[in-house]
Amino acid sequence: TKDDVKTFLRKNAFVLFTIGAVVIGIMLGFALRPYKMSYREVKYFSFPGELLMRMLQMLVLPLLVSSLITGMAALDRRASGKMGMRAVVYYMTTTFIAVFIGIIMVLIIHPGKGSKDEFTQQQKIEQVSPADAFLDLIRNMFPPNLVQACTQQFKTQYGKKVVHVKITVNESIFNLTNATQEITREDVIPISGTTSGVNALGLVVFSMCFGLIIGNMKEEGQALRDFFNSLNEAIMKLVAIIMWYAPIGILFLIAGKIVEMDDITEMGGQLGMYTVTVIIGLLIHGMVILPTLFFVITRKNPFIFITGLLQALITALGTSSSSATLPITFKCLEENNKVDKRVTRFVLPVGATINMDGTALYEALAAIFIAQVNNMEMNFGQIITISITATAASIGAAGIPQAGLVTMVIVLTSVGLPTDDISLIIAVDWFLDRLRTTTNVLGDSIGAGIVEFLSREELQNGDVEMGNSVVEE
Ligand code: ASP
Repeated sequence: TKDDVKTFLRKNAFVLFTIGAVVIGIMLGFALRPYKMSYREVKYFSFPGELLMRMLQMLVLPLLVSSLITGMAALDRRASGKMGMRAVVYYMTTTFIAVFIGIIMVLIIHPGKGSKDEFTQQQKIEQVSPADAFLDLIRNMFPPNLVQACTQQFKTQYGKKVVHVKITVNESIFNLTNATQEITREDVIPISGTTSGVNALGLVVFSMCFGLIIGNMKEEGQALRDFFNSLNEAIMKLVAIIMWYAPIGILFLIAGKIVEMDDITEMGGQLGMYTVTVIIGLLIHGMVILPTLFFVITRKNPFIFITGLLQALITALGTSSSSATLPITFKCLEENNKVDKRVTRFVLPVGATINMDGTALYEALAAIFIAQVNNMEMNFGQIITISITATAASIGAAGIPQAGLVTMVIVLTSVGLPTDDISLIIAVDWFLDRLRTTTNVLGDSIGAGIVEFLSREELQNGDVEMGNSVVEE
């Protein structure tokens, strides 16, 4: 009936707006492509999208810190320990599965053909051991200056190398016409400027410890608990407002990107195959593995759960940043999927920072693709090394656009592959980045659902209580 339609529309307004925005964005983008806008015009055109990015990023820092602190403070030590263990086991398992799928796909499809004969192997390969990569990861967990951690770009030590890639990109075997001019645009490399980030990993570690401590304090911790709780509620109210603007922002983000992207026909065969391989891998992981895992554990319909996440997934697609998407992910999980706040506050910020299935899959796959292009067969040991460093690189990657491209240097150097060859895949990375970011957000959300289910006993017993002191012993 008419009333049914009305309630349906009202209930799903956000999702419908967002889907509409994607459709209109794509159409508008293709309609405007023939006009060959200049770089500056594209920037003006996508301004509303840039604003969305900025608004979301603005919320990430207070949201991340306040939700983690209140989340931890609300859990008693036993409950947080158990929940934390479950989350970590889930993150590690799914990340390894993702890496495994990436490796299997690239070995089966074999997109790289070793046609890079002209490539000279003498170029100097800076050897970075996996140990260096791990030390760097751990180093970043402990920011020496908290204020700086809030403003600094999350950089791996090796971030700088990628800038070099911009220069060498026209030497790529794919002979992309216009590649140089297209790819040297400033916005290609996130670390070099346009996306501001925070050292999320460092802040996560700090907030967890801080939350745990104020949760275990008695009366004297109450003021802090109340403060962060109320900060968190206030930020979520802001998120609710920004949600209304999100579809507009997404529309322009997508349209703008379509206007400025390289012509698809210029994509070399190998690069095309590589792209397809990554897409298939991500689809298997996101649409088969994760839903199956969710179903097997919770016995609930995973696709209903995923429908509730649509807006977050589309935001991830539009922003290519899982941290910028975090506020929306919170909303979707808590409001549409009714996941307990005590779980989301604890699990989501950590997940958005360290659990990146899509990135892990892509890093392993891309590294082996580069080996294939160079006619280097990876032996079993090297493949194991790639799996381990790809996992580390995905943990270390910040949830900002194309961070994975930067941390891939770690994977390449660990098995002696030329890091400059990142230039081979840079042309399609903006696109794959969006897909892997969506997979990342999906992985975090399904993880929250699974952890909630597994922790239902603790949650029911009222072991954990939101916002109140839990120290009465
Ligand atoms: N853009 C991704 C994210 O935000 C990270 C990556 O580059 O893989 O999740």
